[in-house]
Amino acid sequence: ALMITDECINCDVCEPECPNEAISMGEEYYVIAPDKCTECVGHFDAPQCVQVCPVECIPINPAHVETRDELMSKYRKLLGLD
Ligand code: SF4
Ligand code: SF4
Repeated sequence: ALMITDECINCDVCEPECPNEAISMGEEYYVIAPDKCTECVGHFDAPQCVQVCPVECIPINPAHVETRDELMSKYRKLLGLD
């Protein structure tokens, strides 16, 4: 999963782009729910939030490093395919 750092300027552009509705407003800036973020695996070739973020504040979440297979498995679970 990816995460949003405190460099986020709350520009609102990433939230509607997430195919998994993993992004929401946190207490001070936007946050990504790790259990919903597939790094866009299953939906797109590249993370959509990273593509649109103007300040490049969306790295890999070091507490949630996942393989492509694990991300695909999460994608299938979220869609109820498994
Ligand atoms: Fe959503 Fe994709 Fe960004 Fe994860 S990488 S938060 S799934 S847009
Ligand atoms: Fe924050 Fe980047 Fe999302 Fe804008 S696109 S709300 S700066 S994480």
